[in-house]
Amino acid sequence: EQEPNPAHVDSYLASKILHPEYGADPTLEEGLTRAREDGLPEIQVSPLQGQMLSVLVKSMGAERVLEIGTLGGYSTSFLSKSLPPHGQIDTLELSPLHAKIAQENFLASDLFPFPRIHVGKALGTLKKLKIPEEGPYDLVFIDANKDQSLEYFVECLRVLRKGGVVVVDNAIRVGRIHPDSKLDSTIEVQGLRALYDWIEADGGKTVLSSAVQTVGAKGWE
Ligand code: SAM
Repeated sequence: EQEPNPAHVDSYLASKILHPEYGADPTLEEGLTRAREDGLPEIQVSPLQGQMLSVLVKSMGAERVLEIGTLGGYSTSFLSKSLPPHGQIDTLELSPLHAKIAQENFLASDLFPFPRIHVGKALGTLKKLKIPEEGPYDLVFIDANKDQSLEYFVECLRVLRKGGVVVVDNAIRVGRIHPDSKLDSTIEVQGLRALYDWIEADGGKTVLSSAVQTVGAKGWE
């Protein structure tokens, strides 16, 4: 008999703690099915990771959230559900098809506040993005192309409130971010290293950071 692996443990945890209105909301699964049928890649956050975003947003009392990388709107849904009704959520996506599916998913699950999708290259959108009238964003979730991680990070600081939080997904790349990694150093890995280099050079003047290696249904990240 085999010992449980990380995916088994994730399933066990999910069966215990996914919340009926968050990770266990059936409209989320329906949205994933819609995305799969339209050929979108299945690279969204896991249900437990999504619900972790909800915990963060709710515990901070965040009112305005920015996301970079919408895909079919799975993580966006967790973020939107955790905001108060007067909140705001903006999400940036390159692919018109991904944006269309995400929009359909938001309508089907009656999300409120309704996410505003900005279609186009995220860096261009981000550079033009205005600080919301009600005040800067409380939280930014970066989950798009990794080669521009540093540009996204630096640019989103402009629209983030003091004490706000930036969450960067896929920051470990199965360990390849370590300089001794023998595996090919992709532009994704280089992009993430550039972000760590920036944080090192900042010397704690601008940001207080941490990095957490996770293992779960999606492997080592
Ligand atoms: N956050 C989503 C979730 O967990 O449900 C997953 C996002 S997926 C990992 C990355 C998304 O970033 C894809 O939909 C891709 O089309 C988009 N993307 C890639 N390059 C981009 C760019 N330059 N600007 C904006 N979006 C981009």
